[in-house]
Amino acid sequence: DNEDLRLLLLENISQEAVRTFRAQGFHVDHSTKAMSENELVEKIGSYHAIGIRSKTKITERVLQAASKLLVIGCFCIGTNQVDLPAAAKAGIPVFNSPFSNSRSVAELVISEIIALARQYFQRAIEVKSGIWNKQSKGCWEVRGKTLGIVGYGHIGSQLSVLAEAFGMRVLFYDVVNLMPLGSARQVESLSALLAESDFVTLHVPELPETMNMISTQQLAQMKKGSYLINNARGKCVDIPALIEALKSGHLAGAALDVYPAEPGANGAPFDDQLNPWASTLRSLPNVILTPHIGGSTEEAQRMIGEEVSSALVRYLNYGATLGAVNFPEVDLRAITLEEPNHIRVCYVHKNIPGVLRQVNEVLSPFNVEKQYSDSKGDIAYLMADIADVSGKDVNSLREQISKTHANILT
Ligand code: NAD
Repeated sequence: DNEDLRLLLLENISQEAVRTFRAQGFHVDHSTKAMSENELVEKIGSYHAIGIRSKTKITERVLQAASKLLVIGCFCIGTNQVDLPAAAKAGIPVFNSPFSNSRSVAELVISEIIALARQYFQRAIEVKSGIWNKQSKGCWEVRGKTLGIVGYGHIGSQLSVLAEAFGMRVLFYDVVNLMPLGSARQVESLSALLAESDFVTLHVPELPETMNMISTQQLAQMKKGSYLINNARGKCVDIPALIEALKSGHLAGAALDVYPAEPGANGAPFDDQLNPWASTLRSLPNVILTPHIGGSTEEAQRMIGEEVSSALVRYLNYGATLGAVNFPEVDLRAITLEEPNHIRVCYVHKNIPGVLRQVNEVLSPFNVEKQYSDSKGDIAYLMADIADVSGKDVNSLREQISKTHANILT
């Protein structure tokens, strides 16, 4: 029975998510705005779950006030706005939506490859300003050209399939050995990829190792007349070095969707105060600049709503933590839970020795059908499905388990 569970959804999270929660019987309070830390501290104490996007910060102070909070849903990709270790310590898993927009990014890259190869971006700007400039010099088909994908994760691998459908030859470089899709080929080093590719596209996370991973030396290793595309993170490319490579004609063009510093709001200037080279970059004709729109589609927004709300429902109803970013991932197939007298024990506890022995002692008089346990850092999570349990037994089980020495709340 979910009637007593209260959910707070902020930052205009999609109505689809609201409908999903209401259909499950949860009480939902929905707001179009973000909340400040003080407002959250005041209000969060009466909620069991919260859904946010990137503007609401869940700090340690907020978590301390969140006495009933069971779960946090970030209806976006990033989770930097949540103090993840503090949430884990408080026994609160955090879910996000890691690949709802991968396809959208991959499609944007395909369009950029063709826009760069055909220079249609420049031509379109010319016609819009009243200039007729029909050209074929330096304009290419993409068929038969080599695409080098750096980072073959959710986006890179989708892109690989799309690019092959256009007749491109696909190479990829990744720090992990991965199964190539279609006829793609993994190469051993970034240098090998750079030397062979007509188009190089980045799809790596922002890490210390990926900071400026494309700089003067790497640009020099790229083929003369090749193109660079960055839809990953702004700091992965050394932009002054890129500007040099474009000005010298070594690179034929570039497309950037992300920047080391990005304006905080629509309408804010993209100028030299934000990034010292912004006006130089803007003045280069063969560079396509977009305002971090790689994942911004109606489909991706809808998928985020579906993905995160179903993760929250699965956790609140069944305790499943698959996909949680800060928590041990635990789930059991719920085949018997609807049957009478079957219960599921979900126990989040400190990751210290001896806990499983204590819990199993408590469970030993019962018929434990399945049990699974995992840990991550200081937190461990045990799940057990038990048959033939009466209402009276449930209360006593809860009481005994919460008395074990690893209880997170003590
Ligand atoms: P992912 O985690 O699925 O894949 C990243 C891949 O990069 C992994 O296979 C990983 O092994 C590999 N990798 C890590 N370090 C590497 C290194 N040093 N060299 C080579 N490979 C390395 O990530 P994803 O979902 O495909 O996202 C990729 C990037 O795209 C991220 O930076 C993400 O933030 C960004 N992104 C941008 C937009 C946008 O709007 N432009 C939207 C979504 C994601």
